[in-house]
Amino acid sequence: MEDSNRHKGMRKRLAEKLYQKGIRDENVLSAIQAIPRHFFLDKAFEEHAYEDKAFPIDEHQTISQPYTVAYQTELLQVKKREKILEIGTGSGYQSAVLALLGARLYTIERHELLYSKAKKMFETLGLLGIRSYFRDGYKGLGEFAPFDKILVTAGATEVPPALKKQLKIGGILVIPVGNQAHQKMLKITRLGKFDYQEETLSNFKFVPLLKGKNPQK
Ligand code: SAH
Repeated sequence: MEDSNRHKGMRKRLAEKLYQKGIRDENVLSAIQAIPRHFFLDKAFEEHAYEDKAFPIDEHQTISQPYTVAYQTELLQVKKREKILEIGTGSGYQSAVLALLGARLYTIERHELLYSKAKKMFETLGLLGIRSYFRDGYKGLGEFAPFDKILVTAGATEVPPALKKQLKIGGILVIPVGNQAHQKMLKITRLGKFDYQEETLSNFKFVPLLKGKNPQK
C-alpha cells in the first residue's frame, strides 16, 4: 500500500472539513491529517477513504465516520502518556488516532478477524505501542485498570458497569447510549469513588455493542 501526495491532499481537505463542522482541537486535526485512512478500508472503498462517511468493514461492522472519530477524540481531551481503553477496535483507525496523540492505548475487539487484521495494520504503520485484545469489551480490561480515559466506539443500551468501575477518579468515559436507531453521546466524568457527572450530547448512529466474543473461545 502506498500513501501518495494525492492522498495527503485529500486528507488535508478532510481536516479542513472537520474544522468547518466544529472540530477545533489542533492535535486531533493533525492526527486525522497524518493517518492514511485508506489503509484501513477494503480496496473497493479506497477511493472514498477521505469522504466524511462511515464504510463497511468485515463482519458487518463499520469504520466510523471521520467526524465521529474526531468528535469522540476531542471529548476525551487526550494528554500524552495517558492510559486509554478503547472498546471496539474494528478497523483500528480510531486506535491509530489515539496512539498518535501519545496515549498508552489498550483496545478490545469481539471479532477475532477484525482483531487480527487491526493488529497487523498497527505493525505495518509502526504503531508498536498499541495493545490489542480479542475479548468481550463489555467487561473492560480489569487487570490493567484504572484508565485515565475510556472510549466506546459501538452503541450501547446502557453504560457497562465494569467500565465505570475501571475509570480513574478524574477520568472521562465517552460512550454512545440509546437504541438500535440512534444513540446519544454521553461524556461521563468520575468525580469520586461513587460520584459521576454525566453530560448528554449529540445524536449518532453506531453498530451495536454486543456481549460475548465471536467466535467464542
Ligand atoms: N473504532 C472502530 C469502530 C468500529 S465499529 C473503527 O475506527 O473502525 C465498532 C466495533 O465494536 C465493531 O468492530 C464491533 O465488532 C465492536 N464491538 C461490539 N461490541 C463489542 C464488545 N462487547 N467488545 C469488543 N468489541 C465490540
